[in-house]
Amino acid sequence: AAKSAGRRTYRFFQPDMDAQVTARRLLELDLRQAIIDGALEVYYQPCLGLQDNKITGCEALLRWRHPERGMVSPAEFIPIAEETGLINQIGEWVLMTACAEATTWPDDINLAVNVSPVQFKSGTLALKIVSALAESGLAANRLELEITEAVLIRDDEAALAILHQLRDIGVRIALDDFGTGYSSLSYLQRFPFDKIKIDRCFINDIEEPEGSSCIVQAVVNIAAARDMTTTAEGVETKQQQQLLRALGCSEMQGYLFSPAKPAAEIRQLFFSHAKKSPVIA
Ligand code: C2E
Ligand code: MG
Ligand code: MG
Ligand code: MG
Repeated sequence: AAKSAGRRTYRFFQPDMDAQVTARRLLELDLRQAIIDGALEVYYQPCLGLQDNKITGCEALLRWRHPERGMVSPAEFIPIAEETGLINQIGEWVLMTACAEATTWPDDINLAVNVSPVQFKSGTLALKIVSALAESGLAANRLELEITEAVLIRDDEAALAILHQLRDIGVRIALDDFGTGYSSLSYLQRFPFDKIKIDRCFINDIEEPEGSSCIVQAVVNIAAARDMTTTAEGVETKQQQQLLRALGCSEMQGYLFSPAKPAAEIRQLFFSHAKKSPVIA
């Protein structure tokens, strides 16, 4: 009975699954074309110190201007790029492009680049980082790599070895989207990250009575004890900003100050922000 029920279920979902596979396959072909056409672009989102409202750095965020579909979200195409291995090529291009761009910024503004677990495990990440730094002339200490907990699951020893290798190059390492995956506080013990980025889901409800402010407080405390800084992701309101400042969080990123913008607009922003700081208090 279980078998026939299983088979019925299978038949029931078959057309849908086919449609999904076809859609993904089409997106993959489009993505390959996008790489050839140069339809991918790197945007940059500023990150601000919560105490002084100064821009401390920018995160490189990939954008895809699709000829028919408009802007396709990285949340949609990064998984496809990962499944197909295209992420290695795309990620290397982001790294090169963003490092070159960051050399045009003021010296005290850092660059953060997201690294996919696929790139992380490729065996050539350290080499690619060294060459992006050499080619662009960007100082290693101005580059921060954002990795997610996914890289730490399972192959712990290998992951730790890579993290130490990256640290030896002189780049900084941030743990992205903290709290969303199979978060384990032991990760924070086993590897000294430079920064913890607290996921947007904990910032969303931070003001609510039963909300996440105590979780944020706990993460801030752990980070401080281990000499790590904290960045709140997805800060959209002044109230959230004020609360985060009171909780001792170091930095914030979010639509309150700015979404990710094209490189030229970001350069403009550095100029105007420096002149009339602080923009938001
Ligand atoms: P992420 O690294 O956690 O990046 C933060 C995401 O939150 C970005 O979405 C950003 O636009 C969005 N965001 C920032 N502030 C706010 C806010 O105040 N409210 C809301 N609702 N959202 C905000 P985006 O650009 O769509 O990127 C999504 C994810 O795609 C990124 O999450 C990252 O995991 C991945 N991604 C983007 N670019 C790259 C890349 O070059 N390489 C890799 N491997 N992954 C990337
Ligand atoms: Mg990130
Ligand atoms: Mg993030
Ligand atoms: Mg996030």
